Amino acid sequence: MKITRIETFSVPPRWLLCRVETDEGVVGWGEPVVEGRAATVRTAVGELAELLIGKDPSGIEDHWQVMTKGSFYRGGPVLSSAVAGLDQALWDIAGKRLGVPVHVLLGGPVRDRVRAYSWVGGDTPAHITDQVAAQVEAGFTAVKMNASGRMNRLATVADIDEIVDRATAAREVLGPERDFALDFHGRFHAANARRLLPHLAPLAPMFVEEPILPEYDHLLPALVASSPVPIATGERLFSRQDVLPVLQAGVAVLQPDLSHAGGISEVRRIASLAETFDTLIAPHCPLGPVSLAASLQIAVSVPNFLIQEQSIGIHYNTGADVLSYLADTEVFRFHQGHLLRPTGPGLGIDIDEKAVRAADDSQADWHNPVWRHEDGSFAEW
Ligand SMILES: [Mg+2]
Repeated sequence: MKITRIETFSVPPRWLLCRVETDEGVVGWGEPVVEGRAATVRTAVGELAELLIGKDPSGIEDHWQVMTKGSFYRGGPVLSSAVAGLDQALWDIAGKRLGVPVHVLLGGPVRDRVRAYSWVGGDTPAHITDQVAAQVEAGFTAVKMNASGRMNRLATVADIDEIVDRATAAREVLGPERDFALDFHGRFHAANARRLLPHLAPLAPMFVEEPILPEYDHLLPALVASSPVPIATGERLFSRQDVLPVLQAGVAVLQPDLSHAGGISEVRRIASLAETFDTLIAPHCPLGPVSLAASLQIAVSVPNFLIQEQSIGIHYNTGADVLSYLADTEVFRFHQGHLLRPTGPGLGIDIDEKAVRAADDSQADWHNPVWRHEDGSFAEW
């Protein structure tokens, strides 16, 4: 079998899909994208594709090594995401060729179903009570929301109160049997995080996410040591080497993204590395159907899995949603807040190729907003 053609499709709401075709008719799909940088990653995939055309797709590890290390300059979100999508497609081909789900090739399933959480609120969380109640009604056992909108450099009493009030509202709806997580989104300075975390402790969030920006992860050891709440991070880390310091800092939960951190190959290794630090993984996935399918293959096959993010109905999804590009949506149907172990060959999804081709380049140019503080200076989004 040889790889004969690699195509990319930039589709709404903000995703990039890749299609890897072989001379025996087996086709693999991947989702190589960085949110807000789809066009840049598309160029990177085009360059990496030259390394794969004419090659046997079954040498996944060798292809990963060459795609990742075969150029003097390497790593970072764009290149690691381009590799990730192609890696997903190669695993998809491998499974389809053998007629088995990818997780069988990763050692087989360790669980039958995958707990998932839903997002509530948008970039600035509001109406939390109603939105959490709707997710509980839909059967979810956990939700995640942004802790705040734009954050002052040092939180005021009002800032702290607003965050705690919303978290309290969520906890009241959820009761003691369900969970909520709070995404700080890198909007907080370390001092803000230290001030806020003790106020959240009585509400027992499952975890708080990105309490500081990844560029300040050297501050994590002290923050973790002083925090009464489990700390999560990892969506903006792209390799084993990137995650090692945060694991050494003692984070409770690591959130590698299947479309950013080198794909199924590297996230499987990241999960094993995390296991040696007694850290759980919760794959980041505010993305599309292929990314979620790849996440599920990891979720069912690694022992230290906690919970899966998924973006069905998330506020970013305008113009199309996770189910829009699937011929059969059953694989992503929730059962009491869980997704069932996928049983189809490869990634276990059936992409609606006509829908993908029709959507290519139609208003998929998403960028996050640039926020400003009241004095006009730049603020983290
Ligand atoms: Mg996040």
